[in-house]
Amino acid sequence: DEIAALMRSHIAEFPDFPEPGVLFRDITPLLADGAAMRRVIAYWCSILPPDVEYIVGTEARGFVLGAPLAYELGVGFVPVRKAGKLPGSPRSVSYALEYGTATVEIAQGGLPAGARTVIVDDLLATGGTAAATIELVRDFDAELLGASFLIELEGLGGREKLGDLPVDAVWSVP
Ligand code: IMP
Repeated sequence: DEIAALMRSHIAEFPDFPEPGVLFRDITPLLADGAAMRRVIAYWCSILPPDVEYIVGTEARGFVLGAPLAYELGVGFVPVRKAGKLPGSPRSVSYALEYGTATVEIAQGGLPAGARTVIVDDLLATGGTAAATIELVRDFDAELLGASFLIELEGLGGREKLGDLPVDAVWSVP
């Protein structure tokens, strides 16, 4: 369909980045095309739960995509940051990477209890980043409605890792 064609023509592929055997999908061409971005953001808004109150986006591409979604819907945007960047007493969740660990954080008081929330990011691969973000959101007793991605790489187990949470994507790549 139209959106899939738009995505195919605006997502660049880089073999063997950041390491051999990985085909990296780069959203830079999409970001640089204002008309395509507006079309994709409008479509993405149309598939998000209509009663969402907060969009939670993960540093850094989750900011670039989550902020226009939240703005367009007229709802709040809550940034999930990498460790050490938030003042006060942020909530933290650490998760395993292929080598080592990473930590994600939401600011103290960043989400009200019961807030109807959707997490967004540019890409769902193994689901590790999203799973940690979900844990973080649940730590605030927010009501997590789902996780939504610009790109879903199918067959890497990401969706399964997120349990029974509704998972959606603008573009799913087999
Ligand atoms: P996961 O945790 O394995 O699901 O990986 C998803 C995270 O890594 C997201 O925050 C993505 O931004 C990033 N990522 C993984 N693969 C790619 C890619 O091919 N292109 C862009 N980002 C990627």
